[in-house]
Amino acid sequence: MTSVPSPTGPVADLAAAPDAQATVSGASDPTAGGDFIAAAVRSDNAAGVYRGRVQTRFPPEPNGYLHIGHAKAVTADFGIAEEFSGICNLRFDDTNPDTESVEFVDSIVEDIRWLGYEPAAVFYASDYFEQLYAWAESLIERGLAYVDDQDIEAISAGRGGFGKPGVESPYRERSPQENLDLFHRMQAGEFADGAKVLRAKIDMQAENMQLRDPVMYRIRRTRHHRTGDRWCVYPLYDWAHGQSDAIEGVTHSMCTLEFESHRPLYDWFLEHLDLPREKPRQLEFARLELTHTITSKRRLARLIDEGHVSGWDDPRMPTLRGLRRRGYPAAAIRGFCSHIGVTKTNSRHNIEELEAFVRSELNATALRRMAVLNPLKLVIDNWPVDADGEPVVEWFELVNNPENPADGTRTAPFSGVLYIEADDFAETPPPKFFRLSLGREVRLRGAFLVTATEVVKDDDGNVIEVHATYDPATRGGDAPDGRKVKSTMHWVSAEHALDATVMLYDRLFTTEVPGEATGDPFDDLNPDSCVALTGCKVEGALEATSPGEVVQFERIGYFAKDPVTPMLFHRTVGLKDEWAKIRQRSR
Ligand code: ATP
Ligand code: MG
Repeated sequence: MTSVPSPTGPVADLAAAPDAQATVSGASDPTAGGDFIAAAVRSDNAAGVYRGRVQTRFPPEPNGYLHIGHAKAVTADFGIAEEFSGICNLRFDDTNPDTESVEFVDSIVEDIRWLGYEPAAVFYASDYFEQLYAWAESLIERGLAYVDDQDIEAISAGRGGFGKPGVESPYRERSPQENLDLFHRMQAGEFADGAKVLRAKIDMQAENMQLRDPVMYRIRRTRHHRTGDRWCVYPLYDWAHGQSDAIEGVTHSMCTLEFESHRPLYDWFLEHLDLPREKPRQLEFARLELTHTITSKRRLARLIDEGHVSGWDDPRMPTLRGLRRRGYPAAAIRGFCSHIGVTKTNSRHNIEELEAFVRSELNATALRRMAVLNPLKLVIDNWPVDADGEPVVEWFELVNNPENPADGTRTAPFSGVLYIEADDFAETPPPKFFRLSLGREVRLRGAFLVTATEVVKDDDGNVIEVHATYDPATRGGDAPDGRKVKSTMHWVSAEHALDATVMLYDRLFTTEVPGEATGDPFDDLNPDSCVALTGCKVEGALEATSPGEVVQFERIGYFAKDPVTPMLFHRTVGLKDEWAKIRQRSR
């Protein structure tokens, strides 16, 4: 059996391992730069900025399901709060009613809990629409915001670019009274969607593009999932985010690196408002990307829309739903996220690195079971019959999890006709094939030693049955004379086996960086990312496995029982530690 990394193994080794691939970084030095966020919090605490208070928030937009990238943000947001005995809230950034829904809100709450975190409170940016509106009025009154009649294209052209000066809008010098009146009428529904926007009046020549009179409000006549038809104007991210942080009393507002250039704007808004308490501080960290998959919600939605996967919870999806259905334990995801840490450089981590955490967690927790995915009949010719001429049935006691004696044992029936894995038999064994072949003795795990004697073939010459003899003196699997066999195989009793369907998954995208060559990740979709095996023969104990539970099919891998369909199993991950192999290769 393949060795499984110890829980601390991958962590200890990784720091020393160079990158496996030039395109994939971050694996070499996951703590590069140290945890600069914790350092920032510590220095704020030392300076008494927030009087020792630490409050963070996880701020998803409810426009999709959470994915592995979000898990990194959740772990960082809740982790910092925990580390400093502070609190972390969940805040829905629900400022864009076109793409948001209650379905997404509910799933996000559930997924965060599943991941193992409990928000101190759940807030919605839409709860602050009144306050934001009042603050916007106050900026207008002070000549710090104006209504612009230009369309979005003209506004964007007027902002110029790097090294290209901005051009002031012809509407920039409207009086506060006129602006206030127009803003009220925007909200009252007097103008068409897109006819006007409210912009902050900052600096059209600022080097930082974000400060070139950013848009604060747009007109959208869309029903909001919480505020209904109350609003005709909706705030943009930049206008809503920092103010929501301030209202809630957030001290450290963590977001991903693409918002770094927004920080001066985040600060500008807060500096120009009359806030109830000290300003929150924005800190940025790198997004998490994984090889062979994508983490953009828009693209994940496209996978579903185009029918490449069955839904947000398809076991091939990098969503928390998908990973959960696939059998990834929440503890493994948390462990992976805290191991990669927060850094300032964008990086793509090897998916095998995450899998190593999954395997290590499951090795400790998953019960062992026997399942034959590709069955071949093994008939034991010298197996005894009882007084009625029926084959005897022997029950063997098997260990549930050698890693955890507390998991106890189970019994499995053994009789004269069994199923073994077709791959475990070779009529003409190639070199180094030590499993069953004619004349060779092997161990049937926990039961007996058997020797193959002859094969039965169909009309096409395929082996459909193997005959064997067993040695009754080897009960339990060991020969009293100490003779050795080179192979131990799993088996199930044909008469007692249950039928099962097993879904085998492969990478969703064939390349490490999907779309690297053509720009479209969908060009690299793996057409064989899912194979269904029907007619698998499995141990009866698997009937009692709970929906969603993950077990180890001995010698094969970890499999999660489907939460709904009976006797359907999803391959979580194989037994082989591919991450160890990658590390080996790169040494
Ligand atoms: P997407 O691009 O998939 O739509 P998003 O950034 O728009 O993602 P949000 O719902 O706005 O998603 O994100 C909520 C929080 O999660 C934000 O703080 C965001 O920075 C963080 N986040 C999103 N994706 C990642 C990622 N891949 N790695 C780390 N953090 C992420
Ligand atoms: Mg977003």
